[in-house]
Amino acid sequence: METKICKIDQDSIERAKQILFSSGVVAIPTETVYGLGAIGTDSIAVQKIFEIKGRPSDNPLIAHVHKDYDITKLVHIEQDYVYDLIKEYTPGPLTMVFNSKNVVCEQAVCGGKTLAIRIPSHQGCQDLLRAIDQPIVAPSANLSKHTSPVTAEHVYNDLKGKIELILDGGKCSGGIESTVLDCTEKIPRILRAGLITKEMIEKTCGSCEIAMHKQTDKVRSPGVKYKHYRPKCQTALYEYEQIEQVINRYDEEERLGNNPYIMCADELAKYFTGKNLLLLGKTDREIASNLYDKLLDGEKKAGIIIAIAMPDEKGINLGIMNRMKKSCG
Ligand code: AMP
Ligand code: MG
Repeated sequence: METKICKIDQDSIERAKQILFSSGVVAIPTETVYGLGAIGTDSIAVQKIFEIKGRPSDNPLIAHVHKDYDITKLVHIEQDYVYDLIKEYTPGPLTMVFNSKNVVCEQAVCGGKTLAIRIPSHQGCQDLLRAIDQPIVAPSANLSKHTSPVTAEHVYNDLKGKIELILDGGKCSGGIESTVLDCTEKIPRILRAGLITKEMIEKTCGSCEIAMHKQTDKVRSPGVKYKHYRPKCQTALYEYEQIEQVINRYDEEERLGNNPYIMCADELAKYFTGKNLLLLGKTDREIASNLYDKLLDGEKKAGIIIAIAMPDEKGINLGIMNRMKKSCG
């Protein structure tokens, strides 16, 4: 199968619509990462997503809808704070988990009782969702376990020959996956950290918990238990303060002929003059936005990426560190 990359516009959306309505899948841009979408009520199409990605069959998909879609067609809204969250943070990188009305097929939710819903803010994605006017279920558009794609080219590198169409909406501005928030209980609970932070949700809802994912817990967000986001080269992860250890590791890897690259925030570059660097940016937002792009750039040229952690796990850094540990730890 030939895989086409088309700029997202009226014509390519029309083509995507034909593919989706004939049980096909299409790669779509969002403001977080690229998604691999199918119509959520179409179990044959949904099955294709799992096959193409090699995704474990117990890792559910997120249903994406446009901003005027009535989500009560799909789920029960049982908590009042949800209306505040919708007003404050949608469209945007917030995924809310509700009890499902089972309109979206059971393959998409892996037989579970809940459905995760997101209203993306990416304009091209909104246009597509409006044209379809049905929930599009989508995980990230990468092969399972690999780093998530933030450009159409990244999607192409993983899925060429396996899908017909990639809608190109430019580089994703957010750069890490959405915050997944369980909204079925009195107190909302973060299942996956992202750009909508605990602090932001607390401000809107009064309180917010973070789910612990111990090996023994029955996980509410099944995806978090799998290996994730890994680039194809070797990796190592050091603490923010371990500058000397990083320099020693770099020199050692270089001596072994392993072509090391240090991945770090711009502010640390001064310690590593003359060394190969993958610079992530200055602010937490910039760093989130560049993380996958730098990992995917790094896997092409480095033998080993030596990553340096953020100084703390507050705010957006929690989401960044969750991805860094899984990709490089
Ligand atoms: P991906 O977009 O590839 O990161 O996959 C979507 C992720 O959303 C999954 O890995 C889950 O962690 C989460 N998710 C999707 N549906 C649900 C749900 N019903 N309950 C909890 N988490 C979910
Ligand atoms: Mg994913």
